Amino acid sequence: MVPNSYGLDIWGDDNFIISKDTININHQSSPSLLEITSNIRENGIKGPLLIRFPHLVKKQIDGIYSNFERAMKENDFNGSFQAVFPLKVNQFPELIKSVQDHGKAYQYGLEAGSKAELILAMSMTNLRAPITVNGFKDLEMIDMGFMAAQMGHFITLTVEGLGELESFIKVAKASPLKRPNIGIRLRLHSVGSGSWSKSGGMDAKFGLTSTEIIQAIHLLKEADLLEQFNMIHFHIGSQMEDITSLKKALREAGNIYAELKKMGATNLNSINIGGGLAVEYAQHSQDKIRKYSLEEFSNDVVYLLKEIMNAKNVEHPNIFTESGRYIVASHAVLVTPVLELFSQDYQEEHIHLKEKNPPLIEELNTLKSLLNEKNCVEYLHDALDHLESLLTLFDLGYIDLQDRSNAEILVNIIIKRSLRLIDEDYPGLHELQERLQERYLINSSIFQSLPDYWGLGQSFPVMPLSHLDQKPLRAASLWDITCDSDGEIPFKSSSPLYLHDVDLDSEEYFVAFFNVGAYQETLGMNHNLFTRPNECSVVFDESGHYTIQALKESQTVSNILEDLGYTQSEVLLKLKNLITQSDFKEEKEKLDTLLALKKYLSQNGYLRTTF
Ligand SMILES: *Cc1c(COP(=O)(O)O)cnc(C)c1O
Repeated sequence: MVPNSYGLDIWGDDNFIISKDTININHQSSPSLLEITSNIRENGIKGPLLIRFPHLVKKQIDGIYSNFERAMKENDFNGSFQAVFPLKVNQFPELIKSVQDHGKAYQYGLEAGSKAELILAMSMTNLRAPITVNGFKDLEMIDMGFMAAQMGHFITLTVEGLGELESFIKVAKASPLKRPNIGIRLRLHSVGSGSWSKSGGMDAKFGLTSTEIIQAIHLLKEADLLEQFNMIHFHIGSQMEDITSLKKALREAGNIYAELKKMGATNLNSINIGGGLAVEYAQHSQDKIRKYSLEEFSNDVVYLLKEIMNAKNVEHPNIFTESGRYIVASHAVLVTPVLELFSQDYQEEHIHLKEKNPPLIEELNTLKSLLNEKNCVEYLHDALDHLESLLTLFDLGYIDLQDRSNAEILVNIIIKRSLRLIDEDYPGLHELQERLQERYLINSSIFQSLPDYWGLGQSFPVMPLSHLDQKPLRAASLWDITCDSDGEIPFKSSSPLYLHDVDLDSEEYFVAFFNVGAYQETLGMNHNLFTRPNECSVVFDESGHYTIQALKESQTVSNILEDLGYTQSEVLLKLKNLITQSDFKEEKEKLDTLLALKKYLSQNGYLRTTF
């Protein structure tokens, strides 16, 4: 039988390889994800685990710069290529540290869209690397931009509307500080593609129309600020599926750029094409999202801009990108321990047949013992029919609970055995597998760790860390540990997930989600008070060995409650008062109970001791 590679060749980008029975990191000493996970669990850290791989951040940064540099060379393009990482995609310190470390060589900067992100950008960006500031801004936020310029940062504030430009002029008149550069966001008539395309188009939330752009130039001239104007900007939306809409937007923006140069915008020298480079999340070829490569993308951008500028006799602009998802999605993997298989209790040792059993149960027992490769499909169907009948008999009061339990266990054993025996080419196999779905309970929260699955139906590649030399036979649905029926990833027959039939009493089984490094961490929510998973970074040294760094356990219950506004002392005092008044027999029991609760307050809130 051919084992399942879970579409690794579609979504994996050569970042991981399957080696014998495990999935390994395709870098240096190629450790398996299972080995890394086991190492961390040996230190007593149980529950879900987010593993970061800084070398994958480096890979993406290197990729985007080298592709644009190559495209510029091939096209005799005279502008430079610059990039900023949009903080909204992931603001967590370990990731930003990787972005800054690996981006330093390129002067890779940061993009900010709020006051908090701007302060972060001002403190974290290497001097001379660019900072761009998008989104709505008030006088104070613009003032912060002036401070950044005075500090020596190469910062551009993108104005999203004429009102914002007036605020900028007001601050410029009052402030003695150095002025930041001004960018203008364009409101393009070309619209993006894909489910995040609301950022482009004439009814977009942001940007200036052509009439407003002309007004802006007049306002800038009047205020003697035209020399600060250096960039035009657009962003057609995230997860761009094909490149056609970007090309349209580029033609429009390129022509606006050339026109503005002719209107006397002498310091205008950059076109910022926003983000939107897509990441492949599909596990099945029919679900593929991205219809272009990075090479194609960079060639098209550079070539198109060159053509427009050459035709209008304008110097080539510098090209800025703000792609975020593409840079960091692959750097993080979420490993979740499977706590339970829904049918795992149906084990042979729990069968307690009576001296005299109902005829259908006798029949099931015979089916079980005679099951073989030839008869398995027929016997399986018989067994499923018998179970229906037996359940009806139970509802009508004709058989007792022990009979029902025996029937369920016998049928489950027949299902498991026949799935192993049925010929792979049997035409009804998929239908059968779907009907015989197994639920895998995973120790994590979909709301916290995969919020885009919950909010947008975005699926992430998922596969087990072990058993990869065996063909998985169970059609799987994944259930998280929140008490919410939305915390489920159901089996989809059009894009099926199969997992292994494991006995969790004797072995551990982990299921990992890939490409979770973009957007999920800050969007995640504390539904049911499940907070961020445990996390760590896996860093390779020159000799090829890896170390586990920045290991951080999931928040303690007491911190979770404190974030909501409770104090630990208040909670403990209430518990203590109730325990004191209650009817424990001995004082010692009261004390032990209180101490035990105190211990639970100091531990993380995920499930820890199921096996
Ligand atoms: C969100 C955003 C980005 C990043 O988009 P990705 O799809 O993650 O590349 C870039 N620029 C702006 C203005 C944004 O709002």
